[in-house]
Amino acid sequence: MIVRVSLEIALRKEFDYLIPAGLAGQIEVGNRVQVPFRSRKIYGTVTALAEESAHPGLKPVLKVIGAQTLVTPKVLKLARWIAEYYCCAPEIALKSVLPEAVRKKKETEEGWKKQLYIRALPVTGEFPKLSKRQQEVWNIIEERREILLTELVELAETTAATVRRLEDLGLVEITSQISERDPYAREHILPTQPLPLNPTQAAALEKIKVAMKRSEDGGLKMEAGKRGPASSPQPPSSTFLLHGVTGSGKTEIYLQALAHALEQGQGAIVLVPEISLTPQTVERFKARFSSGKLQTLVAVLHSHLSAGERHDEWHKIRQGRARIVIGARSAIFAPVEPLGLIVVDEEHEHTYKQEEAPRYHARDVAIMRGQMENAVVVLGSATPSLESYYNCKKGKYTLLELPERVDNQKMPHVRVVDMRQAARGEKGVPIFSPQLKEAITQRLERGEQTILFLNRRGYSTALQCPKCGYVAQCPNCSLALTYHRPEQKLRCHICGFMDAVPAACPNVKCKNPAIRYAGLGTQKVEETLAKLFPNARVRRMDADTMKRKDDYRKTLGDFRVGKTDILVGTQMIAKGLHFPNVTLVGIIYADLALHQPDFRAGERTFQLLTQVAGRAGRGDVEGEVFVQAFTPFHPAIQYARRHDFTGFYEQEIEFREQLKYPPVSRVALLTLRGRNEDKVKFSAEHLKRELEKNLGTAPASGAVVSAPADDTELFGEGAKQDTRGACAPPKKSFYDLIICGPAPAPLLRAETFYRYQIMLRTRAMSKLSQTLAKIIETLSLPEDVTLSVDIDPVNLG
Ligand SMILES: [Zn+2]
Ligand SMILES: [Zn+2]
Repeated sequence: MIVRVSLEIALRKEFDYLIPAGLAGQIEVGNRVQVPFRSRKIYGTVTALAEESAHPGLKPVLKVIGAQTLVTPKVLKLARWIAEYYCCAPEIALKSVLPEAVRKKKETEEGWKKQLYIRALPVTGEFPKLSKRQQEVWNIIEERREILLTELVELAETTAATVRRLEDLGLVEITSQISERDPYAREHILPTQPLPLNPTQAAALEKIKVAMKRSEDGGLKMEAGKRGPASSPQPPSSTFLLHGVTGSGKTEIYLQALAHALEQGQGAIVLVPEISLTPQTVERFKARFSSGKLQTLVAVLHSHLSAGERHDEWHKIRQGRARIVIGARSAIFAPVEPLGLIVVDEEHEHTYKQEEAPRYHARDVAIMRGQMENAVVVLGSATPSLESYYNCKKGKYTLLELPERVDNQKMPHVRVVDMRQAARGEKGVPIFSPQLKEAITQRLERGEQTILFLNRRGYSTALQCPKCGYVAQCPNCSLALTYHRPEQKLRCHICGFMDAVPAACPNVKCKNPAIRYAGLGTQKVEETLAKLFPNARVRRMDADTMKRKDDYRKTLGDFRVGKTDILVGTQMIAKGLHFPNVTLVGIIYADLALHQPDFRAGERTFQLLTQVAGRAGRGDVEGEVFVQAFTPFHPAIQYARRHDFTGFYEQEIEFREQLKYPPVSRVALLTLRGRNEDKVKFSAEHLKRELEKNLGTAPASGAVVSAPADDTELFGEGAKQDTRGACAPPKKSFYDLIICGPAPAPLLRAETFYRYQIMLRTRAMSKLSQTLAKIIETLSLPEDVTLSVDIDPVNLG
């Protein structure tokens, strides 16, 4: 017998080895093995078993590591899909499906933590005579029956030697046992019961249950033919998008759907953005399943666990003891079997996308895994991604809507403040409009709390006139141009368009010479607050002030108990927080998110405004939200003001259709990086020629045109073709491919690296990924220039 092994060194290849007689019958797919490679011994994972190999002179496997396979065949299949679709080496994809704490364990190491336990033995015969000290120690042991040695030593203020003496006397037994690390052991969790559902919640849950029943019956297999090519995220109809406004009770639906999975004997995975994975969130899930007939361990996987904790949590899942897993992005690979349900909460969140290889999107991997394992997938959000909503419109997902808040809470009242007026009066641009200042004063008087939000991103932003709101845009791509201060240039980083910075505002009605508005940060907001409201207790929450693990928890804790009047923060405070006493939310400068050079800038702004506004009015008092903006009539702001997601979607999708941005197409972003700008630029141009040469030779209508000028013309016809249903055969050519760039990335020279990007847009991404992999394999780049491929990027920077 032969095994195929993926080695833990990046070679983009798998190797065949012989199974020696001594290991016959001991090796399965998913086993970790040690094999000889050149003159070294290397670890790898078995990906297949075979009768024979095409290669002569095979070497034998040296060792099998661990009694249990770590990667299940199902997860292995998922890893293969990731490698193929996201265009990365299989061993890199394989590496990402196991936590390092599990993978790195060598055969000699014991992954479980063992500790010494003292147990009282039944006394037979005459009780030995003890000293006063020994008697005291014995009394504690007898009372506790079993106790950790370390605990006993501390409790009885004694030494291990005294305890050994008791062992010699035959009173106690000292054993080494596995001590499971539980990251939440110190939390005191009270069990909860299912809450009554309102009619819309109940109807949504019912549809999910029906789909779970159908999946279990294998009904999906019969529909398989309708699902289109299996190699791209083409979901079955048992993917749901649960669109519920903030405060509409989505979590309760998740909890009851999870209970249903457990009743059916199935397990489940719940994905939550890392930042929402607070102790309160985890507690909500643990509390529901901590007792009763559905009692199970709820395993938690996220990046703040110690390696040991992660090891133990993972093995609790692998052993089938933990049936529910809650975690951030990589929890999607948890070895839950059988898997009945996957929940992706806040599915629109960009943190589900991994920003290093493999650059997978956990939401899309979830859908693919659901499809492979016949599990129902529930995506939940108050502000769904355009991708997911588009898929509902196309009939690929089922839309479930919760339009009302539970308990008859009203949606907050949103007021948009025109900052162009505020900028007209005094010298310069004020941070607070008179309206917001007045609203804060009222809250301070009434003893209510305020959240002030400022979205600030690290790099040079757009050029915006503070007087009239004008924003410099690329004529080709309809995206904000990036303002490069040192060179005084405006640049489009999608197509490379370049322009000089105007001396005055180009708006003929304005002509403001002070167009170069500098922007501001949270620190400045905090300082201004201190001047305006010297008696207010203000706290700031951003990457600079939240350096230690506990800072976040402590700041929020203080705010919760009313020790803080005003909380100032960045994205960190935008979601998931629930404070009944917050009645005012101020968004200082909504344009900062709006004019990012990214086609999703409008979508992000809508999401942010809606999520931040959702923090207000979670108690009995109705909430009020002030949005300050220099472009107050932008659709993203106006639709957010009216809590109108559908309206926003309709106008935004029109813009995406026109320029063929996702979800109408899919994007592959190729980034070249190096210390020598000329080399990077030259390599980018070389790559582009290779792409045109290789992709351009696609059969028949393989028209490849470089954007920008011909975008709309080229796409005129392609767009009409898009009436195909999900069941149409995959396209045979790259007819609707657009190649954009190369253009310098917005963070040019970040960390002294120059970066150039090429953006590809297509409707046939699976096929493009495969071709890209081939092109990259044969591409010769200078040694100091690296290329990265990002499929479905969420960050164009
Ligand atoms: Zn102007
Ligand atoms: Zn452009």
